[in-house]
Amino acid sequence: MSDSDTRDPTSLRTPIVAVLGHVDHGKTSLLDKIRGSAVIEGEAGAITQHIGATAVPLDVISSIAGELVDPDDFDLPGLLFIDTPGHHSFTTLRSRGGALADIAILVVDVNDGFQPQTLEALDILQRSQTPFIVAANKIDTVPGWNANEDSPINATYEAQSDRVRSRLDESLYEIIGNLSDEEFSADLYWRVQNFQRNVGVVPVSAMTGEGVPDLLAVMMGLSQRYMKEEMEIDVTGPGVGTVLEVKDEKGFGKTIDIVLYDGTIRADDTIVVGGTNETIVTDVRALLQPRPLAEIRTESRFEKVDEVPAAAGIKVAAPDLGEAIAGAPVRIVRDRELEDVIEEVEAELASIAVDTEEEGVVVKADTLGSLEAMADALEEAEVPIVRAEVGDIAPRDVSVASTADDTKQQAILGFNVDVLDDAEQRAEIEDVRVFSDEVIYQLIDEYEEFVDELERAQQDTILENIIRPARFRILPDHTFRQNDPAVVGVEVNSGTIQNNTNVVKFDGNEPERVGQIKGIQEQGEDVDEARAGNRVSVAIDGPTVGRQIEEDDELWTEIPEKHGKILEQELASEIPGDELEALNMYLDKQRSRDPFWGK
Ligand code: GDP
Repeated sequence: MSDSDTRDPTSLRTPIVAVLGHVDHGKTSLLDKIRGSAVIEGEAGAITQHIGATAVPLDVISSIAGELVDPDDFDLPGLLFIDTPGHHSFTTLRSRGGALADIAILVVDVNDGFQPQTLEALDILQRSQTPFIVAANKIDTVPGWNANEDSPINATYEAQSDRVRSRLDESLYEIIGNLSDEEFSADLYWRVQNFQRNVGVVPVSAMTGEGVPDLLAVMMGLSQRYMKEEMEIDVTGPGVGTVLEVKDEKGFGKTIDIVLYDGTIRADDTIVVGGTNETIVTDVRALLQPRPLAEIRTESRFEKVDEVPAAAGIKVAAPDLGEAIAGAPVRIVRDRELEDVIEEVEAELASIAVDTEEEGVVVKADTLGSLEAMADALEEAEVPIVRAEVGDIAPRDVSVASTADDTKQQAILGFNVDVLDDAEQRAEIEDVRVFSDEVIYQLIDEYEEFVDELERAQQDTILENIIRPARFRILPDHTFRQNDPAVVGVEVNSGTIQNNTNVVKFDGNEPERVGQIKGIQEQGEDVDEARAGNRVSVAIDGPTVGRQIEEDDELWTEIPEKHGKILEQELASEIPGDELEALNMYLDKQRSRDPFWGK
């Protein structure tokens, strides 16, 4: 174990970098390229493979970036890249209320431009207030491109033909335009003066390495300029980190992969970890780092280390980690009061917890961070949540969802989780809808589509059972039968006449029921209804023509008060304009007598 007492206690840690972007835009390739270049440029062991992350030290960055990075201008030790790209790991990796990554690269394919997950990533970056730059990737695919391996962008850009250059410019400006549509002021990175106000766009190729020197230089510059203070940590202090993953590891049992962003963790530390049911307090059994490639033999892929300072990715083997949650905080106790540390971990966990309501949908996600991202997105979509938990969709989730009064809420939304077999069966029996996806916005879209469909179906059934307004007139010389029933020719002025509905006539504003429609014929054929503009003959049971009704009389379908209310308040936008007109006229008549009719 190193002697921490003789070391300068404050030191600058490595900024943590995350890579985000739409699928297939080149996130993995870009990380591979950076790691690959680092291996080539550096002496053996110059880059350190961490658990879940790769550290690229300043001198390696400087040799990749050439004259773009003079190591004397920097005192940050390098960059720590999180190995798993994508916003899923980004949202998982959180620290004290924010994103764990200090800085992000948003990868956008120059040909494909902005895509749904690009927008989702932007949204997440904005919410977490994470500074980022845009890597406009795959510039080598611009037709006619002449690749200059690993060249800085300026040199390779100058070496292209005018046509190629203007093609690339076009794509880049489109990306800048897209960013501005999302209210990010952006420009090509060499034109950006203030990276806090403007997003820098760096053209790159993860395939040829072109622009990678610029990308590293911009990241280094941005971190040094704007993040130096946040990087000052007490490197000898008790470590603080976040659980990246909970994993079974042969020979070690359940382990947690963590990213440490403050202080140090030692092999004899006691740690406090956020757990599903209870906060876990346990003693570290081993700290594990990946063995350098050359040394991998049969025994273990890992080597034990005594101490690791932030920022670092490390595997921790300890008893009782089975219920640790990905995304939960980890804190080292060391010489502090255990109770205080437990309190801190619990407070942090509580701050991530999702607010739930009395009624709503059930939400499951694989990590705390993604659960929180789901909750944010659902809040924006105004979908209430009754229960939100980390874990696979289980039968008890179905039980909770099935008790919702509102069919719209008899639903479970699962992000990046499995549906357990018995839960699936149960959901079918209980008629609970289960939505599961790996993209948040798609998940919410699917749910919203289901709600729309449900609402449409509900309105259709309401409409089917509701009496529709109609105003019609008996045509002169169209009495086919005087009574029992009276059969007259009518023209429908507005609305829809339906069979078996009552007919009223207004005496002034006083409605008088004259009878009931017992048959409608259009050109000799029996029909169930007649729409505005149609001329039909109707059989009306009750009145006698010449007594209760006369030719040229204006008649109305009688609308029960309750139906009038539903039509006006819930279905006004569903019914045709002429029907609405008939309804309003009918309501006016009723309300001139009784102002509260149908309210
Ligand atoms: P991810 O899903 O964002 O991680 O994307 P990948 O890194 O897996 O890349 C998707 C595909 O694009 C792969 O076939 C890569 O080889 C290819 N690709 C990535 N970057 C580049 C690039 O700069 N140029 C070219 N020509 N292909 C690329």
